This record gives sequence, C-alpha cells and structure tokens, in this order.
Amino acid sequence: MYVNNNNNFFHGIMFHHFHDHGIHTKGQGSIDKDDFYKMINFIGRNNILDADVFFEKFKNNKLKNNQVCLTFDDAIKCQIDIALPILEELKIKSFFFVYTSIFQGKPDNLEFFRYFRINYFKNVDEFYDSFYEFLDKDLKSFFEKNNKKIQQTKIKFPHYSISDIKFRLVRDVFLTKVQYEDIMFLMFKDKKFNHNDFSKKLLFQKNDLKTLDNLGHLIGLHSHNHPTLLEKLTHDEQKSEYENCLSSVSEILDKPKNEIKCMSHPCGSYNADTLKILKELGIELGFKQIMTIEPEKGMKKVNNSFLEIARQDHADIFKRMN
Ligand SMILES: [Zn+2]
Repeated sequence: MYVNNNNNFFHGIMFHHFHDHGIHTKGQGSIDKDDFYKMINFIGRNNILDADVFFEKFKNNKLKNNQVCLTFDDAIKCQIDIALPILEELKIKSFFFVYTSIFQGKPDNLEFFRYFRINYFKNVDEFYDSFYEFLDKDLKSFFEKNNKKIQQTKIKFPHYSISDIKFRLVRDVFLTKVQYEDIMFLMFKDKKFNHNDFSKKLLFQKNDLKTLDNLGHLIGLHSHNHPTLLEKLTHDEQKSEYENCLSSVSEILDKPKNEIKCMSHPCGSYNADTLKILKELGIELGFKQIMTIEPEKGMKKVNNSFLEIARQDHADIFKRMN
C-alpha cells in the first residue's frame, strides 16, 4: 500500500505517458492500462479525490494528509486514448494541465522528439550516442563543471538516469532551444521521419479538451509554449505565456477566464515572478513536480504555497510497486 512516501502531506500524482499496442509506443516512464489499474489500487482508491473535491477541500484547508489527486500534464493524446476510459470507469475526475500552442497548430516539438527517440532507436542510449555524434562537441569540461548539479538533480528526480540528466543539461543549458531543435531536425531527416504526420495522433485536439471538461475533469494552465526553463524568461515573457494559455483555454471551453483556477508548472520551473503573475491571473491552486523542499528557493515546507503543491511522479510510485 502506498503510504504517501512516509511524508505527511497531501499532494498530486503526476502522469504523462501511457502506452498500448498501437500508435502509443512504450517508452521511458510510460505505463499501460493494466499498470494504471494496479497503480490506482496501490495508491488506494479511497485516497484519491476528484479534482473538484480536492480543489474545494484545499481552499477550505480540509485536505487530509493521505489524500491525493491525479494530474495529467502536456495534453498528450495517449491520456485520452488509454487513461481516460479507466478514469471514467472508476469515476475518478482528474486535473489536466495543458499547454496551448498545440491548439494553434504550433505544438512544441517535445512529443515528436519523444516519439522519434522511442521508435527510431533501439534504446535511449543509442539515441543519446547518435545525438552527441550530430552535435559533435567536446562536452567533457561542461559535464565536469556541472557535476554537482547532476548529482543534485539525481536526488530531486530519482527516476532519471545519469545519462538522462546529462542529456537534459546539454539540451537546456549547453544549447539554445533553436540549436537543440536544429540537431533534432537533422536527425529526423537522416532517418526520414516526417513529424507533421503525427500531430493528430500524439496530441490533444480542441475537442479532447471539451470532452474532458464536459465529463467533469478540471482543465488547468501549463503555459502556452511549454518552455523547459520558464524561470529563465523575463517577467513579461512569463506573463504572456500564462495569459495566452488562459485565453486559449477559456476560448476553447467557452468559459469565462475566472472559472479556470488551477495550473501546473511546466518542467517544474518557476520563480517569484511566475507566482506573482499566476496570482494576478486568479489562479488558486498550482502544482510543482517534486516531493521535496528546495531551500535554495526559500522553501520552508513541501507544500510551500498554494502555487507550490507537491506532486509525485507516477514513475516513482511504479518503482515502489515492483
Ligand atoms: Zn509539461
């Protein structure tokens, strides 16, 4: 039985990818339908609250330490295809945090990159090797310089391997987004992968958002473009990320903006500006994606503020089940 990580605090459970025998290929951290059932059992169905109940109780300070909610990030179609039927069957209403550039035909390439990595390479290490070949830079001193950061990240995100962490550092710190994507597109070309063919299969369409809303799930913000390090953006850039996201969601759901009250931080990245902006936009509940305190961010407790509620990555729970 899941005992809330021996921590005494309520939190969210964070899900991203699901796989089946069709288009949604098995990849790092993905689970299938049966795993999802088992995980819900392991967490304990009675500990899982509907999103709207979690939200109301949270606002009224009524959440108990054993209580959790399920959250789904990134508007990924496998959640609709695989997780949603189970949520409906078990009558669990959940949070769906979506970034909105996908609804304007300008998705972040994240899902395409993932699909490519999983389907065009034998394993993730073969992908990393190929990536570093295309990059063709000596990274030795970069990794040495960042050694402490790598170790710290491993503690923060235990389900990442060291090579995952190193790759993410190269992607997010060593390279600019444009440089990173240019390399990926070269790799696409090399393997004759045409990502535009996959948009509808891999990502939410507007109708998916409406369906979720009609079924009583809660839709929340997750920025417009899903930057990997939002905290590095200026105040105004961050503001437009969340304003655009809020406008899009409100328009698609045909709901006033003030009815959208929750969010999760993309890649867990935020700073003081972000929290101020979200507060001004009327957001009343925000999730981070770790279960620990970050003293360097001035945190005193795990659920540090109403915009910094902890979430457990489903991969960490999965590990504990097996
Ligand atoms: Zn995300």
